[in-house]
Amino acid sequence: MATVATKSTTEQSDLSALKGHIPLIGLTGGIGSGKTVVSDLLAKLGAGIVDTDLIAHQITAPNGAAISLIAKQFGPDFIGADGALNRDKMRSLVFTSPEARKSLETITHPLIRQETTRQALQLNKDGAPYLVFVVPLLIESGSWKNLIDCLVVVDCPKETQIQRVMQRSNLSEEEVARILAAQASREERLKHANVVIENQGSLQKLEVEVQNLHQKILQIQKDQLSSS
Ligand code: ATP
Repeated sequence: MATVATKSTTEQSDLSALKGHIPLIGLTGGIGSGKTVVSDLLAKLGAGIVDTDLIAHQITAPNGAAISLIAKQFGPDFIGADGALNRDKMRSLVFTSPEARKSLETITHPLIRQETTRQALQLNKDGAPYLVFVVPLLIESGSWKNLIDCLVVVDCPKETQIQRVMQRSNLSEEEVARILAAQASREERLKHANVVIENQGSLQKLEVEVQNLHQKILQIQKDQLSSS
């Protein structure tokens, strides 16, 4: 653990080294709000995307970097026969035990941060015009605020979120509502937003909003270039 934590601190300072050189955009929103759809559209426009949710899944997939540490901390029962994290079992545990949540985060957060930094540095090297960090719990975590130049919040009514998540997964309405209750409120998120992407209409309408966002971010890039 100590090795991972030390490495993470170094990697974090590497990530801040990008500040001022390339626009760093935070993209957040509640469950099912449309973060992935928005980041996919931005990727098509050329943005460099670092999806921390995807990274969290990768490190807990079979042979993922967090698997052996989780087995050691929580016991082998928390790892399925396929070698991946048993998500249902872990979700139930962390919903009822804040200590277990903390303990899990002590394992996963440094690994996520390390991989986030690696991908961001690579995308910058590859010439991405700007970087978008997709962070579902950005408002809740607090640690991103000093790093990002612009916070984009994808927003839609709670009922739409519930409907979309139920359609996509086998979660019940109560389970989705429980996840929503554990996240920052819609109002809290909007309070911190620099740009709000309204995603309660059609996908065509969303595409226009994302194109406008892309133009706004390119302007941030121009401003950075002219002041450097
Ligand atoms: P999560 O936090 O759970 O990862 P998310 O914020 O990334 O969710 P998406 O996966 O992008 O949300 O969207 C949730 C679901 O809603 C997906 O199935 C997506 O295709 C659908 N969806 C998103 N926006 C729209 C829209 N404007 N019209 C129709 N369907 C949409």
